[in-house]
Amino acid sequence: MEQVKAAFFDRDGTIIKDVGYLDSFDKIIFIEETLNLILYLQQQNYKIFVVTNQSGVARGYFDLEFVNKTHTYIKNLLLKQKINIYDYFVCPHHQDSNIVVNKNYLLNCNCRKPKPGLILAAANKYNINLTKSLMFGDKIIDINAGLAAGCKSFFIQEFFNILNQDRIKYYDSIFK
Ligand SMILES: [Mg+2]
Ligand SMILES: [Zn+2]
Repeated sequence: MEQVKAAFFDRDGTIIKDVGYLDSFDKIIFIEETLNLILYLQQQNYKIFVVTNQSGVARGYFDLEFVNKTHTYIKNLLLKQKINIYDYFVCPHHQDSNIVVNKNYLLNCNCRKPKPGLILAAANKYNINLTKSLMFGDKIIDINAGLAAGCKSFFIQEFFNILNQDRIKYYDSIFK
């Protein structure tokens, strides 16, 4: 079976605006620059995945079902723009017993970024070639998770504020 090349994206601050702990759909605001980048990467045959820490589950701010519903909602909105998020990988855990409310998720896990567990789980499920894959995020934990998994890793801010007419040339200079 041929291996897949993937582009992994953090969620909050990368695909949608970071509003702290997102607890309602009406707080979802897409970051257009990231959507432009995703459209380009799809054309270059990257499959798109989201890898996201959602310790709000462990903290008791919302449940995992809400997170999954949010992802279905986002997926359906983005499909209208021809963006196909292939799958979502979520870490609901936190290891600090002082802040964890839902004890089911009190865990020093291997998936919370900067650990690479979410990316490795995706690679395992979809036969992804990690050395040909990319990771994008707004924080150093995202970069370190990507590097630990063997992916080329980028701060998403690098792709903000590029003039429309320069965008494809800029992308090509990095990804072609
Ligand atoms: Mg983020
Ligand atoms: Zn985890």
